[in-house]
Amino acid sequence: MPFAATPPEGLVTLSQNARTVLDKRYLVKDKTGKSVEKPEDMFWRVATVVAEADRRYGASDGAVQALAEEFYFLMTQRRFEPNSPTLMNAGRPLGQLSACFVLPVEDALSNGQNGIYDSLRSMALIHQSGGGTGFSFSRLRSKGSMVRSTTGVASGPISFMELYDASTDAVKQGGTRRGANMGILRVDHPDVLDFVACKEDLTKITNFNISVGITTKFMDALKADGSYDLYDPANGAVVAQLRARDVWDRMILGAWRTGEPGVFFIDEANKYNPVPHLGAYEATNPCGEQPLLAYDVCNLGSVNLGYYVSNGVVDWDAMRRDIALSTHFLDNIIDVNKYPLPEIDALSKRIRRIGLGVMGFADMLVRLGIPYDSAEGVEMGRRVMEFLDVEGKKESERLAKDRGAFPEWARSIWGPDETCARDANGQRIRPMQLLRNCNVTTVAPTGTISIIAGCSSGLEPLFAVAFMRNQAGVMMPDVNEDFVSIAKHEGWYSDELMERIAKTGSVRHAEVPAKWQAVFNTANNISPEYHIRMQAAFQQHCDSAISKTTNFSHTATVDDVRAIYEMAYDMKCKGVTVYRDGSRDGQVLSTGATA
Ligand code: UDP
Repeated sequence: MPFAATPPEGLVTLSQNARTVLDKRYLVKDKTGKSVEKPEDMFWRVATVVAEADRRYGASDGAVQALAEEFYFLMTQRRFEPNSPTLMNAGRPLGQLSACFVLPVEDALSNGQNGIYDSLRSMALIHQSGGGTGFSFSRLRSKGSMVRSTTGVASGPISFMELYDASTDAVKQGGTRRGANMGILRVDHPDVLDFVACKEDLTKITNFNISVGITTKFMDALKADGSYDLYDPANGAVVAQLRARDVWDRMILGAWRTGEPGVFFIDEANKYNPVPHLGAYEATNPCGEQPLLAYDVCNLGSVNLGYYVSNGVVDWDAMRRDIALSTHFLDNIIDVNKYPLPEIDALSKRIRRIGLGVMGFADMLVRLGIPYDSAEGVEMGRRVMEFLDVEGKKESERLAKDRGAFPEWARSIWGPDETCARDANGQRIRPMQLLRNCNVTTVAPTGTISIIAGCSSGLEPLFAVAFMRNQAGVMMPDVNEDFVSIAKHEGWYSDELMERIAKTGSVRHAEVPAKWQAVFNTANNISPEYHIRMQAAFQQHCDSAISKTTNFSHTATVDDVRAIYEMAYDMKCKGVTVYRDGSRDGQVLSTGATA
């Protein structure tokens, strides 16, 4: 039975900002560029495609229709949104629904599968389909080493990264946005110092975020102020040594100057690789929250936490139901997705990785009257992430009982004692649990979908209470509605106050009561330590990693940045990204204080 052609009747709560963004970016257009669908049609298109997967597991017409309606209201009432490619592509010719991919790059120009130019081609196909790509360039021989076939010299990983960057310029993701990439080089690669410096010039390699893959050996050398070995990628021989502190200092200086490179604690991340028998984590997706194997993929989706708070109380039952529904939604995506490469299709069905995360966490805290930078705020972060993780896995377990565990389950970290993957000491990494998905939780940046949902992004604090947002080239005013309604209710609202807040980027003004100054504290005014403490609290209950920017004021020193990098490692974060206010041009978000 076909689905109804028009969306169901019922409460839809999309804002004008959301409608503008959808119109500009995601709605189906005619040849003249005019949208031929409304946002409601788009969400119905997505809901029906994703619900359809249930039919393969024996659901009746009626059940599939009812599920599509549930998915539709889940999204249009802004309780959950899937990652952008799902919104753009579901039910359309591309049909590619995932945001994150990682491709291997072998040290050959072409070997017919994963040489430099083979993966370049795969990258273009993934970008065209709306996905972002991550690469490790660590297998490429270093600059200046010999190339046997031509007796020439190799140009090294960075020159090939520049090639990938140039190609990225030419292909628009899903026909709407430019491709995004992550480039990773291990800290023990001989070209690491060039890599650390390769984005010093802000006009270069702009389609890549870069991170250094930091090993435990390196961190041990750093703590002992010793040296560590660099290896020739071609044969594993030790070719040189560097003093760990020198390399670390250069990375910190780069991060202080421009925000790059970030770091990816690759050994720490690999401890929790759910399927080590299939290989180690290769790299992360462009924004860093999703470590992936070679040819791995993840579809993300985020629950809007602020939605579940009313009158200062969290409705945990409603959240539990929506977490289950969202997990079901993401698992269905794997079955209806059209993957750009057969290798990716095959792996995705063997491990069924999904990434359920959050957005609107800062809104949740505001509505509970809890400052982000407080012990209570951090504890709330830990608690809500634990809830998401436990409830998401309960649904994944239910789906496994109904539809089967992911095919690699028995040998994964979740499998039975006799077969499951263990750590180096032979200990279980995770308690046994039957699961449909090898990973369930990831916290994404939610850059666009948080605008669609009209909420704060990811687990980030409020960026500002009043500011101008550059969205796809259009400057849009944004004021925090919770703040405005509290100010009006308590009688200290004025337009002039809002202007002052927008101009100064701070709520520290005499008429704002101290309690609200604390609750509405914004990203730039929250200490870096609290950013990291929050990231670490979420990380405790997250299968994958966390997208988080630790903000520094413009006047922060290099030592301040160094302290945060070391704290992040000690607190078992899987990566760090910092941003010192004003250190880059063309910020997406800007407050009056820095614009
Ligand atoms: N991403 C991308 N291009 C972009 C933004 C994001 O490829 O311009 C991918 C990337 O893998 C990133 C992931 O989408 O890590 C999630 O980003 P975000 O949550 O901001 O995406 P949204 O779903 O809100 O568009």
